[in-house]
Amino acid sequence: MSHEIRTPMNGVIGMTDLLLDTPGLSLEQKEYIQIIQKSGDSLLTIINDILDFSKIESGKTDLAVDPFDLQEIVTETVQIVKPLIREKKLDIHISLDEALPIPLYGDAPRLKQVLTNLIGNAVKFTLEGSVDIEARVKEQCEENVYLHFKVKDTGVGIPVEKRQQLFEPFYQLDNYMTRKTQGTGLGLAISKKLIELMHGDIWIEDSDEPGTTFVFTACFKIKNEDVGQHIESSQKKSRGTPLHILIAEDNEMNQLVLSKMIEKKGHFVDHVVDGKEAIEAVQRNVYDIVFMDVHMPKLDGLEATRAIKEKLSSEECPYIVAVTANALRGDRDRCLKAGMDEYISKPIKSESIYQVIETYYNKKQMNHS
Ligand code: ADP
Repeated sequence: MSHEIRTPMNGVIGMTDLLLDTPGLSLEQKEYIQIIQKSGDSLLTIINDILDFSKIESGKTDLAVDPFDLQEIVTETVQIVKPLIREKKLDIHISLDEALPIPLYGDAPRLKQVLTNLIGNAVKFTLEGSVDIEARVKEQCEENVYLHFKVKDTGVGIPVEKRQQLFEPFYQLDNYMTRKTQGTGLGLAISKKLIELMHGDIWIEDSDEPGTTFVFTACFKIKNEDVGQHIESSQKKSRGTPLHILIAEDNEMNQLVLSKMIEKKGHFVDHVVDGKEAIEAVQRNVYDIVFMDVHMPKLDGLEATRAIKEKLSSEECPYIVAVTANALRGDRDRCLKAGMDEYISKPIKSESIYQVIETYYNKKQMNHS
């Protein structure tokens, strides 16, 4: 059934894409096509949600039991909403239990679907403030581990009397934000069903604070043969929460290589292309580490570092790592003198990046203890 419905929709959306590339279109024609395309996209979302919901409801959905790393899943989910978070200037905090086993066994894509819905809503219904995501181990016995998740926002909130209905299909609150934001009203209903398949429960926490806090539990498997491995790998891996990292680099290829290496480890990356933008970015956002190319247009890495050190207090200041093509003697000293904390030379090797991140974690730990 789903194939029969999706195929013509793909035809409509795909063709509008091609049409838009046709030379000689008037502005008005372009606008009309864009409207068809947008409506097609929304219709496809609704169709997908309805098909998904009815499949789960009919009991035809089996959850997979595959190994995954929860930190990766949370990071990937946050990446999806990152553009909107940035646009709305919201703060996002992620807090993951140090005791989370790796790997967990379960249906990672379905867990991601639930998290995407909750985090997506939190961002959607929050105009200012923050979104906090938390995952803790609630209980562990033999091969089962129960996790407790929290997604908390400082948004418009949900009246107590409406809370139960929200988990019913198609229910949407009639507030000024719902009219502005799109949605099918199926997200929470699907999430609830999926969570039940994971032997968990979902509810909204009572709180006097403004905003909404969704809480859910879910059960995953662990395998005894992994337990020893986990201790070893967690010692090597240094499992803090994901870091926010800024790359200041004008060369696109270097930028891409560096960000792929960092994102692979589950950290968040932002880019800027010169020293001036780097100074602006660190004042606007909180970064743990800045990889600073030394040779950049407008303002080079050394000057940018001096300016950052001047503008931010030492507690606010990110860990700044010089990235330079010159492996000359004296170069390192110049970078350190400008206030940089560390120095790596091009071509960049993933080993040296991970080493820097490890050093940063150790330093942070030392400062805390
Ligand atoms: P959708 O977001 O697609 O409309 P959902 O089932 O995910 O559907 O959510 C249903 C409704 O619940 C939303 O339309 C909104 O009115 C309300 N809602 C969900 N999450 C939040 C939140 N974090 N803050 C305020 N309202 C929310």
